[in-house]
Amino acid sequence: MSAGAYDPNNIFAKILRGEIPSHRVYEDDDAIAFMDVMPQAKGHTLIVPKVPSRNLLDADPQTLSRLIPVVQKIAVAVKEAFDADGVTVIQFNEPAAGQTVFHLHFHVIPRVDGVPLRPHSGTMEDPAVLAGNAEKLRAALAG
Ligand code: AMP
Repeated sequence: MSAGAYDPNNIFAKILRGEIPSHRVYEDDDAIAFMDVMPQAKGHTLIVPKVPSRNLLDADPQTLSRLIPVVQKIAVAVKEAFDADGVTVIQFNEPAAGQTVFHLHFHVIPRVDGVPLRPHSGTMEDPAVLAGNAEKLRAALAG
């Protein structure tokens, strides 16, 4: 089955355009990063390229080559900010694989030894908690 077209009104496109709020922690010419509103662990962050693509399958390789260093930067910073033992990086392509928002993004999730991930797209976090986590991550990125 072929993938659907890119929808410019998907929720991450709206976040990129500033039409809906997010707890943004990082921005450069190519990408933004913000807190996932239904975190699978404390500090769960999403990295989104500015160039539109539906997912990894249709992305321009140049988009990917500019995005992965940002994924690495956020992974290093979440490990420090949340005193994690490890970091899980996940990326879903198409509904069959679990994708629910159709603008390419990478999940960066701090992990603590022995603590399982909460469900994907599970429970909404308190915005005040997300704001506090975003502040910790910004501090780690600035350090
Ligand atoms: P997926 O497309 O399956 O890789 O996952 C989309 C992710 O986006 C899920 O982890 C959701 O919790 C998250 N999410 C959905 N809406 C928002 C939003 N408005 N702000 C931040 N994260 C979101």
